[in-house]
Amino acid sequence: MKTILILGGGIGGIVSANELRKALPSNHKIILIEKNPIHSFAPSFIWLMTGARKISDIQVKLEKLLLPGIELIISEVNNIDVSNKTIKAGNKIFSFDYLIIALGTELNPESIPGLTSATNTFYTLEGSLKIYEDLSNFKGGSIAVVVCSLPYKCPGAPHEGSLLISDYYRKKGMRDKVTINFYTPESQPMPVAGPELGSAVEDLIKSKNIAFNPIHKLKSVDNENRLLFFENKEPVNYDLLIIIPPHRSPAVLKESALANESGWLPVDINTLESKYDNVFAIGDVTSISIPGRWKKDIPMNLPKAGVFAHSQAETVAKIISDRIAGNNSASKFEGFGYCMIEAGNGESGFAYGNFYGEPNPIIHLSNVKRRWHLGKVLFEKWWLTPIGLKRSFYQYLLKISVKILRIPINI
Ligand SMILES: Cc1cc2nc3c(=O)[nH]c(=O)nc-3n(C[C@H](O)[C@H](O)[C@H](O)COP(=O)(O)OP(=O)(O)OC[C@H]3O[C@@H](n4cnc5c(N)ncnc54)[C@H](O)[C@@H]3O)c2cc1C
Repeated sequence: MKTILILGGGIGGIVSANELRKALPSNHKIILIEKNPIHSFAPSFIWLMTGARKISDIQVKLEKLLLPGIELIISEVNNIDVSNKTIKAGNKIFSFDYLIIALGTELNPESIPGLTSATNTFYTLEGSLKIYEDLSNFKGGSIAVVVCSLPYKCPGAPHEGSLLISDYYRKKGMRDKVTINFYTPESQPMPVAGPELGSAVEDLIKSKNIAFNPIHKLKSVDNENRLLFFENKEPVNYDLLIIIPPHRSPAVLKESALANESGWLPVDINTLESKYDNVFAIGDVTSISIPGRWKKDIPMNLPKAGVFAHSQAETVAKIISDRIAGNNSASKFEGFGYCMIEAGNGESGFAYGNFYGEPNPIIHLSNVKRRWHLGKVLFEKWWLTPIGLKRSFYQYLLKISVKILRIPINI
């Protein structure tokens, strides 16, 4: 009998627990440790922010997303000891034969003077609700959407957020009373995906009358006078500030032997195994330097996104179940990913491709269409539906849609 411990019950943790339970005989133990009993689906925060969703639409009890036979422990992991193959959560020590770390990221707004956890952001559930209130009460003026620093999760989300804010005011008939400025330290949207995708997203943003301001690295904020200070730029005024806060790796990881100097967890790019045997990491917590780079001078990492956490979880579950069965595993994560970019007006763009492509990532962008938006909504419905017949039905619909549209993705 083997024990597989999974740390973190977000996207990667949920998928790996379910895939392992499907693949392994019931005498093997699968234990998932997560601090929050309620799962909130982060990709829906942008809809919470504009009032298109209520909290109850995008939350579900975590236990309802897990197959029978998975032991769920609601507790905070506070120590990872890979040498002794134990972890500590609350006051309990757990031993493991295989470990999957899927602890995601933490937000760290306080690292920039003037920002606090109360600064508006649609990167949290509470923040998205607060922005909805602020957008509703806003009588007009300038809105600044600021990506504070790199890395941040979901390279598409800040752009989607800005596009949906624009759409919110269009629907309210007051778009002409609002200016929207997007600031980012990057030289283009989603640099890792190459110049063509970057220009396409930039054009999309500009087509909605949102000013795109690249190479703006936020230094500090003067809340009283509503001023933003960027490195080597003149101060900028705002009336309503919305940030994508700085991200950092989870504290418990930094204190372990696994983290690199930046706090993230380097893993093999195909097997997701760390430098310790049978210790894997998936999703946002990892640091994966991608093989192809269209800009040689910029070190590029695989973006932090749910789509990667999801398929990495499938790969790792297969590798572990193969090893337990005594087989050599050929399972590999090969860098494929996709993303629907909400553009407003019930439409989305769709980007997909191979982020491990060489010499450069090979990413395709399909025009903004209603069908991609519907695909995103269907995915959300499937993800948030408790295990059971209804969920299987949504999964079937997703599979059919992917086939009909000939999208090369695995659902
Ligand atoms: C606004 C927004 C929109 C997004 N849109 C998309 C999208 O359209 N497509 C896409 O692919 N991605 C999207 N993402 C990104 C996606 O949500 C993340 O990349 C994904 O959730 C990462 O999965 P993960 O399993 O690595 O981490 P998470 O899903 O963040 O899970 C980590 C889990 O670990 C738990 N945890 C952390 N520390 C501890 C501890 N010490 N003890 C116990 N539990 C702990 C956390 O509570 C959390 O549940 C979006 C993100 C945001 C914020």
